[in-house]
Amino acid sequence: MIEYEAVIGLEVHVQLKTRSKMFCACPTGFGAEPNTHTCPVCLGMPGSLPVLNEGAIRLTVLTGLMLGCRIAPESKWDRKNYFYPDMPKNYQISQYDMPLCVEGGVPLPDSAYPKDAQKSIARPGHHVPLVRIHLEEDVAKSFHFGTNSGIDFNRAGTPLMEIVTQPDMTSPEEAFAFLTSLRQILLYGGVSDADMEKGQLRCDCNVSVRPVGETALGTKIEIKNMNSTSAIRRALAHEIVRQTEVRRAGGELRQETRGWDDDAGATFPMRSKEMAHDYRYFPDPDLLSVRTASIVAEVTPQVPELPAAKRARFVRNYGVSEYDASVLADDLALAAYFESAARGSSRAKSVANWILNDLASALSSAGTGIADCPLPPAHLDGLAELVESGRINGRQAKEVFAEMFASGKNAHDIVKERGLEQVSDTGEIEALADEVIAANPKPVADFRAGDAKSLNFLTGQVMKLSKGKANPKVAGEILTRKLT
Ligand code: ADP
Ligand code: MG
Ligand code: ZN
Repeated sequence: MIEYEAVIGLEVHVQLKTRSKMFCACPTGFGAEPNTHTCPVCLGMPGSLPVLNEGAIRLTVLTGLMLGCRIAPESKWDRKNYFYPDMPKNYQISQYDMPLCVEGGVPLPDSAYPKDAQKSIARPGHHVPLVRIHLEEDVAKSFHFGTNSGIDFNRAGTPLMEIVTQPDMTSPEEAFAFLTSLRQILLYGGVSDADMEKGQLRCDCNVSVRPVGETALGTKIEIKNMNSTSAIRRALAHEIVRQTEVRRAGGELRQETRGWDDDAGATFPMRSKEMAHDYRYFPDPDLLSVRTASIVAEVTPQVPELPAAKRARFVRNYGVSEYDASVLADDLALAAYFESAARGSSRAKSVANWILNDLASALSSAGTGIADCPLPPAHLDGLAELVESGRINGRQAKEVFAEMFASGKNAHDIVKERGLEQVSDTGEIEALADEVIAANPKPVADFRAGDAKSLNFLTGQVMKLSKGKANPKVAGEILTRKLT
């Protein structure tokens, strides 16, 4: 039986985080009353003229710089002609042969793969090469009711950045990792909120299969408008099996656009794919081309530390594990919290443990996020210090942590108020040890005869007399000294 392999290329649409639309001053934003954020330009009225949003160009250039692209010195605008029910001009202003950014790539760190696939990564450390990044305008949104349809033009004209990869990915898991990693970089750059549920990041997935060993690409199928990484993984997996079965049965695949029905777990045909020439692209006569030199100069210093560099720095500077570094760096707010908790601490690793375990679970049971965390980050070092010095034990630390989270008070104050501090004062423990030795002749004799376990019992007795406050380590040492 002939073995087939999959080839995947993605076209990712990202809504940019600008205040106004791409070619007019209408506000962007989610959730306003339908058709309240509109004007003659974004409604496509005859005679209205587009005005470029420089902020959108800056964000696209920033994305290009973060992804190692070459930024075109000059970039132009083209009309993509089509019958768009949700775009009354019946063309979209986009970029054809002179996009803002070309080449570059997206890294696929292990932590970006689906959890269940992280043990079997086919190409560790792989970078997915990009073809281009260009800028265009989003269309309106259609709603279909029982017998009629409505169109909301609030979204029409929102700046949309399209990122096109080379046909380079070989599995649904790589596509998942690509989107996870890209989304994180976009969030780091503040380029987009990239919320897939809100449609701020949408993806067309191109996939073909070919016999293993063949270099020519197979016929490509495009799965349109996906907005969930887990659905993308399922859709690609389904489509790869479907195409392989058609090929094995001697069938032909036609280039087409398909949709994904998540409930049915299957793709379905939508339309046969149009070719670039069908769109009759031509330069938009209403817009001048953009020279990017001054924008590149302005944006270059704004390129932030990227996720990979942050993870490496966390491991290097704070001694946390690679895994912990990747969880901490996963979310910018969490990373910032960790840094302010760990800065200047000689116990950064235990601080990280408190954040990743107790704090994470406290936040999730409280239904809040790290941004609204009631516990000031600087207080965690104090807690870790109390544990490390043996002044409170693990059980007491949990108790103190719970109150720190509830009240925002610092660990030392809570320990004082509750009288939790362990007694390490040797004089006090010596007296208790003498009392215990006198009262327990049998275990004392056993210990002297070589039964090491008796020491635990005797230590336990000292703890009991101290009402749990004696430092067990100090108590054990004193008993040992007295009995040997
Ligand atoms: P189109 O002009 O139809 O949009 P492109 O050549 O611009 O096609 O490619 C669009 C996307 O499809 C890119 O992400 C590219 O990597 C991917 N792609 C192209 N050909 C194939 C193929 N045979 N199999 C899988 N993906 C492909
Ligand atoms: Mg395309
Ligand atoms: Zn407008």
